Amino acid sequence: NTFAEIDLGEALNQNIRRCKYVKPTPVQRYTIPISLAGRDLMACAQTGSGKTAAFCFPIISGIMRGQHGQRAPRVPRMAFPLALILSPTRELSCQIHDEARKFAYQTGVRAVVAYGGAPINQQLRDLERGVDILVATPGRLVDLLERARVSLQLIRYLALDEADRMLDMGFEPQIRKIVQQMDMPPPGVRQTMLFSATFPREIQRLAADFLSNYVFLSV
Ligand code: AMP
Repeated sequence: NTFAEIDLGEALNQNIRRCKYVKPTPVQRYTIPISLAGRDLMACAQTGSGKTAAFCFPIISGIMRGQHGQRAPRVPRMAFPLALILSPTRELSCQIHDEARKFAYQTGVRAVVAYGGAPINQQLRDLERGVDILVATPGRLVDLLERARVSLQLIRYLALDEADRMLDMGFEPQIRKIVQQMDMPPPGVRQTMLFSATFPREIQRLAADFLSNYVFLSV
């Protein structure tokens, strides 16, 4: 019941020690093994429950272990992330990005953040330098897709954080547009994790549409 007992890959385990995480929080204890086993997941979890690490660890571990089949096509100025983390606000996206960078330190996994309400140019430059994990708000990501600066065809991991808040903010059309752009992989190839503090009908519908054969957890 410590992180040392979970093999996430040496570099990631070392970063977890460096962050002084010793024991998983309840949401981490239940979700990480499910995600490492490749299952889709819907988790009811509040802020402060440790959900950022719960979705970042399996993503970073999976990317580190490679085996992502397809190589990124060489399309000038188009980024091909392997993982996408959607969150409702700039503040939350930045927090997730900061944590993801700490966890990914010296793993070779690169995280980039893109959010609305700020100039896009620096974000475009960051994307051009390469991205494995893209942390984004839905509106800005749709903008990047329309500019053909991001392709979602290689996405293997999708995490939706605070899904209920994203719907409250009116992002459902953008989220659906984003998910539609992911190549329909064979079942089990794309892994989706949906985190939400509440589980109203609209979230149940998203889960039914985006997840396959998923595990439901209420922590
Ligand atoms: P989150 O719910 O992801 O925003 O995390 C809440 C806070 O708990 C953050 O400051 C994390 O760095 C911290 N945290 C998350 N998981 C652990 C853990 N297993 N041990 C110690 N601190 C943690």
